[in-house]
This record gives sequence, structure tokens and C-alpha cells, in this order.
Amino acid sequence: MSETIGAAKPQKPNVLDMARQQLYNAAKYLDLDDGLLKVLSLPKRQLIVNFPVVMDSGHVRVFEGYRVQHNLTRGPTKGGIRYHPDVNLDETTALAMWMTWKCAIVDIPYGGAKGGVKVDTKKLSRRELEKLTRRYVSEINIVLGHDTDVPAPDMGTNAQVMAWIMDTYSMQKGATVTGVVTGKPIPLGGSQGREEATGRGVITCAHEACKFTNMSFDGARVVVQGFGNVGSNAAAIAQETGAKVIAVSDASGAIYNPNGLPVRTLMQRYAEREGGICEYPECDKITNDEMLALDCDILIPAATSEQIHAGNCEKIKARMIVEGANGPTTPDAEDYLTDKGVLVVPDVLANAGGVVVSYFEWVQDLQAFFWEEGEVNAKLEKILRNSFQNVVYTMLQHKSNMREAAYIVGVKRVADATVTRGIYP
Ligand code: GLU
Repeated sequence: MSETIGAAKPQKPNVLDMARQQLYNAAKYLDLDDGLLKVLSLPKRQLIVNFPVVMDSGHVRVFEGYRVQHNLTRGPTKGGIRYHPDVNLDETTALAMWMTWKCAIVDIPYGGAKGGVKVDTKKLSRRELEKLTRRYVSEINIVLGHDTDVPAPDMGTNAQVMAWIMDTYSMQKGATVTGVVTGKPIPLGGSQGREEATGRGVITCAHEACKFTNMSFDGARVVVQGFGNVGSNAAAIAQETGAKVIAVSDASGAIYNPNGLPVRTLMQRYAEREGGICEYPECDKITNDEMLALDCDILIPAATSEQIHAGNCEKIKARMIVEGANGPTTPDAEDYLTDKGVLVVPDVLANAGGVVVSYFEWVQDLQAFFWEEGEVNAKLEKILRNSFQNVVYTMLQHKSNMREAAYIVGVKRVADATVTRGIYP
């Protein structure tokens, strides 16, 4: 790819400022007390850890990691662990805050958290990755627990990393605690359907958004930015439920075929290759910016934050955006697109499928009683459809955009819980 993602971007807004701005926008509709708004705009706890790992070379490297718990009012905190070179305290805090609203919007009994380590996992051996994970968990285990804070996968982490987290925590407890982390492999207390859950949820929301806007999902032209867990599963499920996936991208670049791309083949044969999906022959290779500007019906940004911004939003031709990533659209770009009549289905609703099935996994672990995949998927789709309807109803009632409506639902649930519990002591 000749251009890096978002090369023409104006200065990147701080993602925590963006998260706070979104909260303040929603708060205007709710007439929240200033003190309460202050509580909601700040994280409850931020843990920073610097920890050593002996690398394969024998040298010691020190890594910086975080675990941030934003709000615990409605239950234990929940949220992923991200391994990425750009991880920092502000971003982790913003992501923790988004988890609070996300859990409240879909009405599952959790607060929000997020963790991360500043690391490029591509430069680690498997052994180094395991040692880093076990040491990081040992440093943050003072705040973890099945009834206090439950991590899950996020960018750069996967089911194997979750297995190491479960094992490390359990070894230190002296008992197997499956419910301390979700997104585990199925034989270790993982849930059927968890791996695809975020992508499935994105597409459930896309179906609902099509019904709401009177657009046919059948034959809809879909563009997916990012081909990790969320993007690839969303693309596959979009195709299997009637849409035509015309472009996708990964770190190697973007590929386009107006007649549709074979998503499962890309997942099975190309995604893991050194050259990525760009090695697939029957398509045009395009840049990320060209892909975002394609004439399409549904654009699914499922890569990183701030991909649709003031510098490129005027070129977007999609009729709707369904946010698979966290924070992919900046507030000014969202205002521009909303004015143009583009429906933006916000991350806190669109990508909530992952945490919903994490909740199911946690419930199954606590009960030591496991469900079939069909049951998991049906329950997930029901929760997301109901949440979508509720957000649309709120949007029409308040004449707001969809993100503000989702926040109105989520922030109100957290604010009401805080007021009902009262301020201790
Ligand atoms: N990391 C995912 C998210 O951002 C999943 C979190 C979870 O399952 O706890 O929603």
C-alpha cells in the first residue's frame, strides 16, 4: 500500500478528549447534575505497571502496561486487553469509558474497563508473548477477579492469550477460575460463538439499519476496513446473509472486486500469509483512502480509531457506516456525514456483540453449564436487535444522531444506577 492508513489526516484528536466530548454531547439531553457528569467523565482506577521480561536473547526488556476501570456501578468491570505499540494511558482510559456505555446500552450487568501493553507482538516469539502475558497478569492481578474485573481479547490478543491469563491467575489463586477472563478456547471454559460474536453483532446491526432505512441488505455492496477478528467475521457473515463484499483491507493494503470477494477463502488462505490478502490475484489493489472512498452501500471500519475524519469524510459515498472498530469516526466527520444523511451506527452498539457473548461465557463459567452455538447466537441477536430498536426509538424521540441516542440510553442507565445506589458513605 503506497499510503499509510489516514495519511492525509489532520492532527489526530486525543481519543480521550473525543470520548469525553461524546459523553458531554449526550449529557445535554439528560440534564445531568454537574457532579455526576464529573464522576462519569473520569476513570475510577488507573493502574500503570512497568515490568521486566527476559527475552529469548537473554536480555531483559521492560514493558509498560495498564488496566483502567472506568465505572463499577452496574457490576464488575469488563473489557479487553490490547497489545499494540500505540497503547497509552489516555487511549486505554477512553476505551474503558466506551466499555461502560457499551455494557449499559445492551443492558448487561457490567461496568467498563480496558487494559493494554505497549508492544509490537509481531516482533515477539511465542515464548516471549507467553512470558509477557503471564508477567503482565501477575502485575495487574490485584484488580482482576471474576466478580471485580474480567478481561477479554482485543487488538493483538486472542484465545491463547486468554488461556494464559486464566492459567496465571488460577495458579496464583490455587484453584481454576475460568470466569476471570472471557474469549478463552472452548475446552477451557470458552463459549461457542465467542470468536465470531463481534463480527456477527456488527452484521446484526447492519441488517437492522437496513430495515430502518428501507435499504435492502440483499445484494448490498459492503466495504470492510480491517481483516482481523472483527472485520473478517463481519465480512464473512455479511456475505453469507446476502450482501456482496466488494472490498476489504489488512496491513498489506486493500483489495477490490466489484463482483464480490471470496471472504472465507481470504480468511483461510491469505490472511495469515506474509503478504496478507493482497496476494489474492482476482482483484484490483487499491489504497486505503481509495477503498474508503468507494461507491458502496455499507462501510464497516473495523481497524483502528479515527479512520474517518475531517480530511476524508467528504469523499465517503457509503449510505451507512457500521462501526466495527472502537472510535473509527471523529466527531466532526460524524457531524458532516449525519448532515449528508449517512446513518452512522456507533461502535458502542455495533461492536457490542463481543462483550455480549463474553457475558454469556462468564455466566456459563459461573454455572459450569454450557450452551450450544445456536442458543448463543439466538440470544446474542435478540439482545442486539432489542438494543438497536431502543436506540432508534431514543434517536427519534430526541431528534439526535444515533451515537447520541446510544449514549443517552447507556449514560442514563449508569447515572440512574449511581443515583439509586447513592454516594457512599
Ligand atoms: N474487546 C472487546 C470490546 O471492545 C470485547 C470486550 C469483552 O468481551 O469484554 O468490546
